[in-house]
Parts: sequence; structure tokens; C-alpha cells
Amino acid sequence: MNLRHLEIRLESLAGFERPTARLEQYQTPAPVAARLLHHAMMQGAIEDRRVCDLGCGTGILACGAALLGASAVTGVEIDPAAINVARRNAETLGVSVEFLVADVRSPDLDRTALTCDTVVMNPPFGAQKAHADRPFIDLALEIAGEVYGIFNEGSAPFVASYTEGRAEIEEVVRCAFPMRRTFAHHRKERVDITVEILHLRRI
Ligand code: SAH
Repeated sequence: MNLRHLEIRLESLAGFERPTARLEQYQTPAPVAARLLHHAMMQGAIEDRRVCDLGCGTGILACGAALLGASAVTGVEIDPAAINVARRNAETLGVSVEFLVADVRSPDLDRTALTCDTVVMNPPFGAQKAHADRPFIDLALEIAGEVYGIFNEGSAPFVASYTEGRAEIEEVVRCAFPMRRTFAHHRKERVDITVEILHLRRI
């Protein structure tokens, strides 16, 4: 499936019904999700691979990975309402994804059950709570060898130093991220930010 075709399929998915600011529930726009998944696919990290999506929200990355031929996909998300939408999205695409309501920070999370080849994720950027992305990075590197995540522009040096000795940044793909007005504290209808898709490889 080419990039444009993937983007069109992901465009049809539903977003958060009532997004929560505290959880930084920003839906990844279809072009950005497609870009991450296509990039990972071209590197052999999706097809016939076990994939996990951490903080999967309404499941755009998880469902897209399944569409691209991942052998098994699990989406982990703290918010049951988002998981309900994600389940419907998987049905819309006719793909099979296992969704799990869980907190990535929980020490009780069964790491063995989540072990996979590749993590794809758009974690909270830490706009509401500093370093909110760290438990996601930690868990991702515990369960997978390859991690593709979406981060704020300029995050690469911080992520590199945070993961020093555990992972290396293989590439940084800069990407426009059109953010629609989601929360009351947003003044503009739309803001275009730049994000970085970071590919981390565990060492
Ligand atoms: N990955 C989705 C959603 C991105 S928004 C997408 O690409 O569209 C970040 C998501 O992380 C939200 O759905 C939020 O509810 C979830 N989240 C925040 N803290 C979490 C935690 N501690 N454990 C699991 N999920 C969490």
C-alpha cells in the first residue's frame, strides 16, 4: 500500500469524542500517522512483525499497522472511552487489534505479554505534565527493539540523552502536524506545529 492510499484509509477513522486535556488527547492527523507507519514499513518494521501502540487513543497507529500487515497488534490506552472508539475504528478498517485499557506507568503491566518487535506511538508531549513521555519511552524500550514515536520539534537531543546506553536514534523525520482546536485553552482554530518522528533502536 502506498503512502497516499494509507492516508486515505486512515482519514476515515473517528477521533476522540470528548478529548481530555490532562491526558493530552490529541489525535494524530492521518497524514502524520501514515508517514510514521509507511516509514516504519519501508524499514521492514511492520509487515509480519508484532506491533504495540502505547497510548493508542482512538487507535489510528494501531489500526494502520494492522492494515499494513503486522502479524499481531496491541494498543494500550488508559482511557476506556478512547478504546471504545478505537475498537470501532478497527472494525471500520476490517482489521484485528487487541486493545488493552491500562496505564503505561503501572508496574503491574505484563511486559511479557506486550513483548513485540516494534512500538509505534504518539505519547503525550508533556505540555500538561513535564516528562509525561518518559514512561512511554521506558516501556517501549523494555518491550520492543524498534520504536517509532512522535515528539515535539527539538526533542531529539533530550530523548538521546534520556535513552543513553539503552537506545540510539536511527533517524529523525520532521513532519508538519496541523493541530485543530481541541481544548478551551486553544485560542486559534488551527495551529501548525512541527513534530519529529524519532526512530529509536534498542542497543
Ligand atoms: N496515539 C493516539 C493518541 C495520542 S494522544 C493517536 O495517535 O491518535 C496521547 C494518548 O495517550 C491519549 O489517548 C491519552 O489518553 C493516552 N495516555 C496518557 N497518559 C497515559 C498513560 N499513563 N497510560 C496510557 N495511556 C495514556
